[in-house]
Amino acid sequence: MQIKSNVLDRQFFMYQKEYEAAALRVLRSGWYVLGNEVKQFEEEFARYTGRKYCVGLNSGLDALIMSVRALGIGSGDEVIVQANTYIATVLGITENGATPVFVEPDDFFNIDADKIEAAITERTKAIMVVHLYGQAGNMKRIVDVAKKHGLMIIEDCAQSHGACFDGKMTGAFGISGCFSFYPTKNLGAFGDAGAVVTDDEEFACNIRMMRNYGSKIRYYNEIEGLNSRLDEIQAALLRVKLSHIDELNDERRKLALKYDTEIKNDKIKLPQIREKADSIYHQYVIRCKDRKQLQAFLSEKGIQTEIHYPVPPHRAECYKRLGHKKGEFPITEMYADEVLSIPIYNGMTSEEQQYVIDKINEF
Ligand SMILES: *Cc1c(COP(=O)(O)O)cnc(C)c1O
Repeated sequence: MQIKSNVLDRQFFMYQKEYEAAALRVLRSGWYVLGNEVKQFEEEFARYTGRKYCVGLNSGLDALIMSVRALGIGSGDEVIVQANTYIATVLGITENGATPVFVEPDDFFNIDADKIEAAITERTKAIMVVHLYGQAGNMKRIVDVAKKHGLMIIEDCAQSHGACFDGKMTGAFGISGCFSFYPTKNLGAFGDAGAVVTDDEEFACNIRMMRNYGSKIRYYNEIEGLNSRLDEIQAALLRVKLSHIDELNDERRKLALKYDTEIKNDKIKLPQIREKADSIYHQYVIRCKDRKQLQAFLSEKGIQTEIHYPVPPHRAECYKRLGHKKGEFPITEMYADEVLSIPIYNGMTSEEQQYVIDKINEF
């Protein structure tokens, strides 16, 4: 059997008619960028996340870059961020000339809230929280630390659409919740897209201006902006998917539960879920000291797996200038050496999943 790490067309076919109707509606409307579909999606997604405002953007990276910028964070400022994240999180900081200050992750692959205080200096402006692999971070502790030290919280929710901590949606804890709708994400579009959610009117207004050349009124430019507009087709397709996101997330949770209960191999550590947190299983990430052998074994059996991520940002070529050394973040580096994302996607059949389970247990 051949099993890919992700299969995107299955979730398209699940709601094919609705997607096609939405796309056609836009094609026939004669209005293609920042229109009624974007406005509707923004209202619906703000409601979904429990926030007052949503601003649709071009990508998750733009959501991060623009949030940091709109909060006035730049050169000379520091932003605390977990060391085991995707490069985009860190680019959101460094694109603004600010300095990322890395903190080790906890047992749940999220930032270790108990290690944040030691990383705070008088230059620290914000904590960038990543709800990695779909599991909400330790938000009670993080919010307490941020309050105590007067720091802003920016959430990278690129992998956590619909995941909650203590019943509250990720993206609703900080001043800014940054989302990506890249096709592989749980709420994926059919191309690039992203958004920021917030309760702060002025912040929302700034992001709105920034996404469209810094203007509220066309050709009257108040700030030096960007082009990060969400297009109507993506917004219309996202509205369809948003109306099904709870079912889609539940399907992944069921798949994860089956992995939790049926993978039985002493060489493998299964992902753990924090008390009060929940996960939408953007990835199902196991750990194995013999990862190389495990990955090769599964590959031989036709099962494709991924490593999220083999090189932590502090060891990335592009961040040599930050001067971090190998061994500086041992937990992060251990995770980079041990993590393996096994296939989990909407539309995965029970035969496919059983095959993956059997082969992992066989290893
Ligand atoms: C995907 C992702 C991003 C970037 O989103 P894009 O839409 O691809 O720009 C940022 N952070 C994390 C954690 C991601 O997984």
